[in-house]
Amino acid sequence: MGGLTRFDCALGSHGLMRRALSVALYHAWQRQAFGKTLVEQPLMRQVLSRMALQLEGQTAALFRLARAWDSRSSREEVLRARLLTPAAKFSVCKAGIPFVAEAMEVLGGIGYCEESELPRLYREMPVNSIWEGSGNIMCLDVLRVLAKQPEVMAVLHAEYQEVKGVDRHFDRAWRQMQQRLRKPSEAQGREITHGLWLLATGMQVLRYSSPPLAQAWCRMMLDPRGDMVLDARVQNEVLLRATGGQG
Ligand SMILES: Cc1cc2nc3c(=O)[nH]c(=O)nc-3n(C[C@H](O)[C@H](O)[C@H](O)COP(=O)(O)OP(=O)(O)OC[C@H]3O[C@@H](n4cnc5c(N)ncnc54)[C@H](O)[C@@H]3O)c2cc1C
Repeated sequence: MGGLTRFDCALGSHGLMRRALSVALYHAWQRQAFGKTLVEQPLMRQVLSRMALQLEGQTAALFRLARAWDSRSSREEVLRARLLTPAAKFSVCKAGIPFVAEAMEVLGGIGYCEESELPRLYREMPVNSIWEGSGNIMCLDVLRVLAKQPEVMAVLHAEYQEVKGVDRHFDRAWRQMQQRLRKPSEAQGREITHGLWLLATGMQVLRYSSPPLAQAWCRMMLDPRGDMVLDARVQNEVLLRATGGQG
C-alpha cells in the first residue's frame, strides 16, 4: 500500500507539472511582447522547450513504472517497482516545485496573482514530496533495497544493454553510478536516488523517443557541464508534442 501511494505521489506531481506547462504554453501563444508572441521569442522558446523535454522523459519513465506495478507475477518487474518507486517519488516530487515556479514566471505578474491557477498548483506541490515519507526517507528506502536486494541492479543492467553505446552522456552517467554503488554511503543517498531515476528515465527516452530528442534529453539531464541549449529541430518537435500538434 505504501509503495502504491508513493507512486501515486509521483504521478500526482507529474500531472500538476503537466497542467502548469499547459497553462504556460497557452499564455505564451497569446501574449505579445516586443512585437512577437512569447513563444516566438528565442529565450522563452528555450524555457518552454526544456520544460516540455523534461516532462517527455518523466512521462515515459512513469508509464514504464506503471507497467512494472501491473506485472506482479514477474520477479524482475516487482524488483524494478520496489527500487524505482521511492526514486520516482523523490525526484519527480522535488522537481515539481521549481517547475511550477518557472511556469508561473512565464505568465509574469498575473502568474503570481491568485486569479491565475498557478499559485494553487505551487502551494500544492510540496505536499507530495513530504507526504508518505519525505525526501530523505525515500533515499534511505532506495539504499535499503540496494543493500537487501542487490539483484535489482541486474534488472537495470539487462535493460542498459539495449541502449549501451547510443549516447555518451548516458554511458558516462551509467559508469559513474556503477562506481558509486560499489560502496554506497548514506550521505550520498540523494545523489544515488536521483541518479538511478535519471538513468531509468534515460533508458526509456533512448528506446522510444526520436534520436534528436533522446540525445537532447541526455545532454540536458545528464551532462554535468549543463550545456542545455536546444536546437530548433528539438524545440519544434518537443513543443509540437506538448501541444498535441498545435506546435
Ligand atoms: C496534507 C497531509 C496529509 C497527511 N495524511 C496522512 C494520513 O492520511 N495518514 C498518515 O498516517 N499520515 C498522513 N500524513 C503524514 C505524513 O505522511 C508525514 O508527515 C510524512 O510522512 C513525514 O513524516 P513526519 O511528519 O513524521 O516527519 P519526520 O519523520 O519527523 O521527518 C522530518 C524530516 O526529517 C527527515 N528525516 C527523518 N528521518 C531521517 C533520517 N533517518 N535521516 C535523514 N533524514 C530524516 C525527513 O525526510 C523529513 O525531511 C499527512 C501529511 C500531510 C502534510
